[in-house]
Amino acid sequence: MRRYLVAGNWKMNTTREQGVALAAAIAAGSTEAAGRVDVLICPPFPYLIPVLDAVKGSHVTVGAQNAYFEAPGAFTGEVSLDMLLDVGCQSVILGHSERRHVLGESDEIINRKVLAALNKGIQPILCVGELLEERQGEQTEAVLDRQMEGGLKGVTAEQLSHVVIAYEPVWAIGTGLTASPEQADSAHAHLRTWLKNRYTPEVADAMRILYGGSVKAGNAAALLGQPHVDGALVGGASLKADDFLPIIEAGIQAIQR
Ligand code: PEP
Repeated sequence: MRRYLVAGNWKMNTTREQGVALAAAIAAGSTEAAGRVDVLICPPFPYLIPVLDAVKGSHVTVGAQNAYFEAPGAFTGEVSLDMLLDVGCQSVILGHSERRHVLGESDEIINRKVLAALNKGIQPILCVGELLEERQGEQTEAVLDRQMEGGLKGVTAEQLSHVVIAYEPVWAIGTGLTASPEQADSAHAHLRTWLKNRYTPEVADAMRILYGGSVKAGNAAALLGQPHVDGALVGGASLKADDFLPIIEAGIQAIQR
């Protein structure tokens, strides 16, 4: 049985004080999730340490929103995986659509990051998803196949068990538009079939595939209730405990059904 993961991507938001208060409120408000639904929060780099301190001893884990694949050295402005490990990060979001489409990251760069994270023992959350025009042009599955092939190049079946996939249709990120539960499940089922064909049925069945794109309290139950949806990657609604906690609760409810 795959364990749900509810992850918050704070993007370039919060102050230090707000981030610490938000992290503490999430940890205190989601104790019921301990041992049942994994809860991850991903603050901006400068707040990783205070946020890690704020959730210390709780069930909440902390991840980064990006990392560079090289070992520490002359890479001005970048943050290495060694640094993330050093401060206690266990996960890193890679290939987010904003990194792909705003900052120009290619599948090749993302793949180098995925491989480097796996080599360091940090869990990569690999984001894939199509643009609106790609969906309208019935290219969704081809785009997903290309991003999976590119992002997971050279990843072994053993390594794959440490990877989480996040399906995030770009047209649904931060727009208020959400994929219908059926659209989400159909994309997730396609991704699982891809994993089955490329690896093995056992590996594919064990993989967690999160949905991301305007997830909120009102739609979380329907999305998390889909057979191939194993959790959520949440942007806007992860910035307030009152918005994020009901999504975690939806995960708890979904495992009881
Ligand atoms: C995201 O940034 O990964 C995301 C899904 O954002 P939002 O929930 O705001 O659409």
